Amino acid sequence: MPMDPKGKITDDTRIRESICTIQYCIDKGARIILCSHLGRPKSKSDTQYTIMPVVEKLREYLKDINISYIDDCIGSKVQAAVGKLKDGDILYLENIRFYPEETANDIAFAKQLAGLCDYYVNDAFGAAHRAHASTEGITHFVPAVAGFLMEREIKILSEAISKPKRPMTVILGGKKVADKIGVIDNLLKIADNILIGGGMAYTFVKANGGEVGNSIVDDSKLNYCRGVLAEAKKNKINIIHSIDVIAADNYSPDANTRIFESDKIREGWEGLDIGPKTIEAFKAVIAKSGTIIWQGPVGVTEFEKFANGSREIGTAIAESNAITIAGGGDTAFTVAKFGLGDKFTHLSTGGGASLELLEGKTLPGVAALLDMNKEIK
Ligand code: AMP
Repeated sequence: MPMDPKGKITDDTRIRESICTIQYCIDKGARIILCSHLGRPKSKSDTQYTIMPVVEKLREYLKDINISYIDDCIGSKVQAAVGKLKDGDILYLENIRFYPEETANDIAFAKQLAGLCDYYVNDAFGAAHRAHASTEGITHFVPAVAGFLMEREIKILSEAISKPKRPMTVILGGKKVADKIGVIDNLLKIADNILIGGGMAYTFVKANGGEVGNSIVDDSKLNYCRGVLAEAKKNKINIIHSIDVIAADNYSPDANTRIFESDKIREGWEGLDIGPKTIEAFKAVIAKSGTIIWQGPVGVTEFEKFANGSREIGTAIAESNAITIAGGGDTAFTVAKFGLGDKFTHLSTGGGASLELLEGKTLPGVAALLDMNKEIK
């Protein structure tokens, strides 16, 4: 959940997106116990990670609903609070990551959680790639189903890669090649176009013999990138890994800038955004695509001087007639920041989870729900 240093929620997409499922349960007269992850607290004493800001935000959206909060997740106090719920009420538990048992997928802990409810609804797509007590463990003890957000995420992302409207284009950006290896390997089997920008482009440029100056490069992945380029050629996949760049003389928001061909960046300069020729080349591919998946900003969008490439690409995707999907985390945040959110077919709420789906992996939190033959203990 994006928050500022004072603990104020700066982007409440995940809260808003979960309301559909919550409202459905309210309408059915359910007594609802909500449980969420927030940040990465080390223990209960990390009080800045309390779930309270999320509870308050939810109260703003569900004004007529009785939403109570309890500063724990299991135990007699929680059981008593559950006992007091009336039909259509909500009880919000404290951040479940305060318990190390959550991440450890501790069975006893999962069983205690399950003991609070009759049914378990998982709407946390963003946590579906982890087998935690509240995403996987619990499903062994109560009947477990997907919420509407989870269902939509899985359906849209899975269909985009299993039966894409062609041509299928994937735009990859972000900092490191290493984070996207699984995705690239899988896309080499299914994509028609792979457009590479952001920090990860320079490892490809260098692998191809280019001079990248001080741009970010992962030397341990040069051979990997050469292999990708060869494989793409063999599979007739169109890969464009940046043609020109906006380079900076230092990594700062007010650096001096200069345009270079991406394989001729001088020492002392580092590429922080894609240049005008790359933008045009990417736009030409985008305009002809049937499906577009965008995962990772193509420049350092935190600095306005280097946000132009991502804004131009985001706008071109939004204006295209394709099925358009922005991967979670930085990409969805960037799209929302540019005010393009409602022009995309789908903004994923899961960063790691959407990457793992694009890698072709089965998510443990989803597999747990789909296992219809599972024995409930
Ligand atoms: P990721 O977490 O891999 O999606 O990467 C997102 C981050 O990549 C953002 O914080 C961007 O600032 C950063 N990024 C994008 N382009 C570049 C670049 N050319 N050089 C350095 N960092 C970049």
